[in-house]
Amino acid sequence: MKVTEHIHALKIPFSLQVGPEKTLSRFVYAYLIYGEKIYLIDSGVSGSHRAIFDYVEETGRSPGDIDTLLFTHSHPDHIGGALAIKKETGCNTAAHKDAAAWIEDIDRQYRERPILNFYSLVEGSVAIERELRDGDSLDLGQGLTLKVFHTPGHSKGSVSFVLEPDMALFSGDAIPMAGGVPIYDEVLPSIASIRKLQKVKGLKVLMASWDEPHLGDSIYPLMEEGLNYFQNIHSIVLKESADFPASDVTTLGARVLSSLGLPETALIPIVIRSLEAHLKVAGHTDLLQV
Ligand SMILES: [Zn+2]
Repeated sequence: MKVTEHIHALKIPFSLQVGPEKTLSRFVYAYLIYGEKIYLIDSGVSGSHRAIFDYVEETGRSPGDIDTLLFTHSHPDHIGGALAIKKETGCNTAAHKDAAAWIEDIDRQYRERPILNFYSLVEGSVAIERELRDGDSLDLGQGLTLKVFHTPGHSKGSVSFVLEPDMALFSGDAIPMAGGVPIYDEVLPSIASIRKLQKVKGLKVLMASWDEPHLGDSIYPLMEEGLNYFQNIHSIVLKESADFPASDVTTLGARVLSSLGLPETALIPIVIRSLEAHLKVAGHTDLLQV
């Protein structure tokens, strides 16, 4: 789907296994920036190279035009298709240094952040050739500039990008969707990262990895909703842990998900990890005032 003059969005469905016979249907977006060359933001899950290459060809370009694959972060649904894309196009790869270790060594990522069907989502490890730093400005040619913002919290090495002159924000998983399953490593850095993105003036498009592209007036209110969602989850975690102080984190997690109206099947280790992140800052009642 064409989003702006230079940006195309590709929605990639996948299944997250959450139990021996239970899966959650999810999707992730990969984004293509078309200039003289093509810049691909995230690679979807294993096998996504086919859909990406088909799309590139349908739009009159060639997969060989893909110059660089830029990662918003290291999670399976963002890096899973990278190996085939790298092999078939010879493109460059770029990520923040704090994301590189898990992209370059997927076995390490699996050990440190296990997901049941990890190896069906991620094809293999890929070397990172260019380190992305906060404040970097990448010249993509034809008057296009991609600015890099380090936006940790969802993961340590998460980055967001702003493409000028389209004024399009690629936020990866840095801004949670209100009502979505909580998945992040740290709460206060997540909030600081959203505030950093709110300060970017004149945004016209918001492209998160787990939501449809948003254009126009809804962008800044959506960031505010993301902030409020963190606070809402935090308040529920504090209330449930005060009401049931002897609960272990799994029992607490079940109550929190139920209060949020989320299915019990979402109570997987990476979600429990998010709730533990709230417990680490339990000394603060109002996270938005910290
Ligand atoms: Zn992620």
